Amino acid sequence: MPQSILKIALDVPLDKLFDYLDGGFDVATGQRVLVTFGRRRQIGLVVAKAAESDVPANKLRAIEHAYLDEPVVDSQVFRLLRFCADYYQYPFGQALLSSLPARLRQTEPAVSRRQFAYTLTASATLEAIPGRKVVQRRVFSALAEHGELNETAMAAISAGWRKAVQEMLSAGLVQAREVPAGLRTEARHSAEPELNPDQTRSIEAVTGNPAGFKTWLLHGITGSGKTEVYIRLIAQFLKDNAGQVLVLVPEINLTPQLEARFRSRLPQLPLVSLHSNLNEGERLQNWRLAQSGMARIVIGTRLSVFTPLPDLRLVIVDEEHDASYKQQDGMRYHARDIALVRAQHSDIPIVLGSATPALETWHNARTGKYEVLALTNRAVAKAALPQIRCIDTTRNMLHEGLSDILVDAMRERLARGEQSLLFINRRGYAPVLLCSACYWIAPCMRCSARLVVHLRQGRLRCHHCGHEQKIPPACPSCGNTDLHPTGHGTQRLEQTLAALMPEARILRVDRDSMQRKNALNEMLAAVHADEIDILVGTQMLAKGHDFPNLTLVGVIDTDSALFSPDFRAAERLFSQLMQVAGRAGRADKPGEVLIQTAFPDHVLFNALREQDYPAFANTLLQERELMQFPPHSYIALLKAEANDYALVQRFLRFAADTAHGLGEKVTVYDPVRSQMERLKGMERGQLMMQANSRQPLQRLLRHLVARLREHPLNVKIRWAVDVDPLEF
Ligand code: ADP
Ligand code: ZN
Ligand code: ZN
Repeated sequence: MPQSILKIALDVPLDKLFDYLDGGFDVATGQRVLVTFGRRRQIGLVVAKAAESDVPANKLRAIEHAYLDEPVVDSQVFRLLRFCADYYQYPFGQALLSSLPARLRQTEPAVSRRQFAYTLTASATLEAIPGRKVVQRRVFSALAEHGELNETAMAAISAGWRKAVQEMLSAGLVQAREVPAGLRTEARHSAEPELNPDQTRSIEAVTGNPAGFKTWLLHGITGSGKTEVYIRLIAQFLKDNAGQVLVLVPEINLTPQLEARFRSRLPQLPLVSLHSNLNEGERLQNWRLAQSGMARIVIGTRLSVFTPLPDLRLVIVDEEHDASYKQQDGMRYHARDIALVRAQHSDIPIVLGSATPALETWHNARTGKYEVLALTNRAVAKAALPQIRCIDTTRNMLHEGLSDILVDAMRERLARGEQSLLFINRRGYAPVLLCSACYWIAPCMRCSARLVVHLRQGRLRCHHCGHEQKIPPACPSCGNTDLHPTGHGTQRLEQTLAALMPEARILRVDRDSMQRKNALNEMLAAVHADEIDILVGTQMLAKGHDFPNLTLVGVIDTDSALFSPDFRAAERLFSQLMQVAGRAGRADKPGEVLIQTAFPDHVLFNALREQDYPAFANTLLQERELMQFPPHSYIALLKAEANDYALVQRFLRFAADTAHGLGEKVTVYDPVRSQMERLKGMERGQLMMQANSRQPLQRLLRHLVARLREHPLNVKIRWAVDVDPLEF
């Protein structure tokens, strides 16, 4: 029989499939295979089969192995990644392979341990077992007594149980049933709160809607009961003992809490999580459980949007506005956007949840593309909204970055045994080291950035490339020994507070202090046990955590974001401040938020004081329309970097000329240096392209990328296309 041709996706930077002969293996599409490509063996995925190939017969190679006993990757996932490859201008094979758990990309066989439970067959009798087979007889009696036993129970019978059971399986005395390892179901069932009218209305809207694709925006501030709505929706959608739900969360740190809450409320539904804190074995196991349909709820960070889910019924994207959903290297996809595409492909509803939806999302809600479900109050009746006030820093002197008003407010909390949180978006001791004589500022040699002072370690660090050096004893420029750490970071604030309130128990929460595995959990436990009076931290603190005894939030030094050249800065700041404000007064104690700013009358703060996201969003949308920024236009960036900027410039110039020549309705700007001109020793530039609709931009990019891949500089330059970029 002639061998058939397999069209195989490989992890190589070429946007094509590769033809191989099947080598006599009875391969299905979606199967993993081992091939030699060039001189290297690698893993591929069979995307299609064909009768013929354009490759001459004598050049065609056969695959070396097919992993026939593994389940195949389903066509839904192929379709989704095909869409991504086209939309983000990324090679399909790379997109596909990089969506798999690492174990499945390695050429060693990916054994995930499978677990079984055993029962006796109907025809099994003790007489069928020879008297000298002691272990088999013991197994028989145990199964006769207990019905079904899992591997742990078997191991308790005898160390030699595996061999015995193997023989009994062959003899038809015992049958095995696979039980998913890693799938826990919970015995504990926590109580259901009675839904408030907003929640009831939201749930009924989604469940009462005819089946099919539809996008819902669940808009409600922190504590308004969004998670409760997710839980009820999941229960509804999975109630017929079938179906799966995918829940995306922006950050690994948020998965354990959500996981625990889902498990205790939905104990009968097997749940797995997928994120990068899992080791490779766990990741593979959980992925397989999702793929097999055994896991009914999958909670994961952005990459899990590509998990095979054969019976997907509902997608939920929590904190849909969060920038962590955007992948910043490789294929620069946005997991929320891909989740929308996936829901559309599967023809099922999707719920986006947020207190401060992304402007793109808000725009779609206003134009009727999405339907809004609003939760207007905090779910716990007594938990009122916090009072938000600005402290005018032009009228109130700051000492070490702190106003008296804020310090007094913290002292009050301390006296009452309540907790305070100070939010500052800068880790380290001070953002710059300044020479008081010649104003030299310690720079990073590899980046266009300043080195941050980490005083306790006596070091300067670049927060962009990780470069580190000792704090110099004197100014390298003029020799002056009077070098000043200038500005404020978390470490300095911690030190200042310790001096002001020696009796207070202070905890700093930032990337430096939370490096240890488990540090964050210990922090949360300490706060809940009331072992902490004051938290000082970065946005790490802002997200999702619930601190019932916290009644004051102080916000320090956010003014730079008000006037940032990044057109998304204000949107981001608003959402960040709403989020930290949400930390205050969650339980029955009223909360207060104090914001130190030189611009207390800024529209952003006015909207924040009223907690009026719609008003602020509508103002920003008007600005965006005026400026023709997204969502009123579509942007793609060609980002390029090399050791030598002249090369980058030549490459980008060629790209710009080519793009112009394609005659699409797309504005092609001149190449410019990136905002961060140098990063990790590479000189960077970019080309911006903008259009009023997606199609011309997509057509242009497709042709442009094909030309760039053939350009002689292609090999000397690192370049990437960023469609719908969040960073410029
Ligand atoms: P969000 O996800 O919007 O932050 P949650 O769903 O976590 O809000 O709800 C905030 C708090 O209110 C939680 O402690 C939750 O258990 C509680 N809660 C939610 N809905 C209700 C309700 N209808 N009645 C009473 N408590 C509720
Ligand atoms: Zn100097
Ligand atoms: Zn650097």
